[in-house]
Amino acid sequence: MALIVQKYGGTSVGSIERMRNVARRALAARKQGHDVVVVASAMSGETNRLLGMVREASDRPSERETDVVIASGEQVSVGLLSLCIQDLRGKARSFLGHQVRITTDSAFSQARIKHIDAGGIFSALKRGEIAVVAGFQGQDEEGNVTTLGRGGSDTSAVALAAALEADGCEIYTDVNGVYTTDPNICPRARKLDRIAYEEMLELASLGAKVLQIRSVEFAMKYKVPLWVKSSFTDDPGTLVCAEDDAMEDLVVSGIAYDRNEAKLAVRAVPDVPGVAAQIFGPLADAGIVVDLIVQNVSSNGKTDLTFTVGRTDLRKAHEIVKKVAKGIRAAGVETDATVAKVSIVGVGMRNHSGVAAKMFQVLSSEGINVLMISTSEIKVSCVVDEKYVELAVRALHTAFGLDRAEVDVAD
Ligand code: ADP
Ligand code: ASP
Ligand code: MG
Repeated sequence: MALIVQKYGGTSVGSIERMRNVARRALAARKQGHDVVVVASAMSGETNRLLGMVREASDRPSERETDVVIASGEQVSVGLLSLCIQDLRGKARSFLGHQVRITTDSAFSQARIKHIDAGGIFSALKRGEIAVVAGFQGQDEEGNVTTLGRGGSDTSAVALAAALEADGCEIYTDVNGVYTTDPNICPRARKLDRIAYEEMLELASLGAKVLQIRSVEFAMKYKVPLWVKSSFTDDPGTLVCAEDDAMEDLVVSGIAYDRNEAKLAVRAVPDVPGVAAQIFGPLADAGIVVDLIVQNVSSNGKTDLTFTVGRTDLRKAHEIVKKVAKGIRAAGVETDATVAKVSIVGVGMRNHSGVAAKMFQVLSSEGINVLMISTSEIKVSCVVDEKYVELAVRALHTAFGLDRAEVDVAD
């Protein structure tokens, strides 16, 4: 008998019928003698609908109240899911974030889990109940409702699995597992049987939303066996696990893309010490994450400084940088919200040269202009015009030998 945490994403709980399917799966695991904890997301589209109403209600919504609103989607899911399990003659009890005591810091909309008090869940399991826990939400030390960032239910599930010392965490979604790239934009994407934590971390941080990055960090840190599976099929899915030698055979094992990118260019910045700190300091103070940074060669003591931020942060970043640009007498600030980032990832890159050069060549042969570049030990990222991003992913997928042999049209 094992203790299993199963997380079901928005599409998997998108209707009452789908919730019944989830209830059947959870009960099947229970029948096999396992203790089962189910973590549920909001029904698909619900978090976006709630965010839409927040924006309608206020131009500058308070972060605290935003979290109160957007956490509600998960509350509805766990209540309904528990009812579906009970309707099938199973025992279930729902738990909201504060009822489990998922304690987080106070960074509204991107809170980090600090502590989980699993006592209530253990009591429920002892009574033979399926514990149905609301994903995405927690509570800070003052009792405020907090949320964990988009896709945060993945992190709720893995953190719970770590706290309960579960035997495994299964993330159920709308695809069969982790693929070489997003199967919804690349029909030739191949499902991976296994992927190294490090590669999954890179893919997640570079835009592959199949797992939230924090969930992979938790799994790696607490050695939680992490599976990604479909709630609609019986495919064995993908195991996210520690790296082994065989994984290094592949130079590139995955491709990610991120449309949530925007570019800012500060023109004719005086090329003197301290200027970068003057620009990036206030952005950091405002909690804005800066991604790629490029500084041009200086001419006449002036240089251009170009960088990217999340598209949702563009307005705030522009306001801040405009002020700084005036103060340091830069010529002006230009913005572009129609860029995207495409990245190739693989632990095998450590032992191979020429990978970046090949990427640039593939993009150029498709007529795609590279606007910015960033590399690390196991990834290369390029910022390109957003309208070419899917073409870029597919071309790179083929060029790096990731295409599966045959495309099954019935898939
Ligand atoms: P859920 O609502 O179940 O949390 P998400 O939409 O957050 O589901 O994540 C699943 C989606 O992630 C898939 O439908 C797919 O479009 C996308 N995705 C992006 N990259 C990958 C990848 N490499 N492998 C699998 N899915 C991916
Ligand atoms: N409902 C939240 C979101 O849409 C959390 C999640 O689905 O994981 O981002
Ligand atoms: Mg998700």
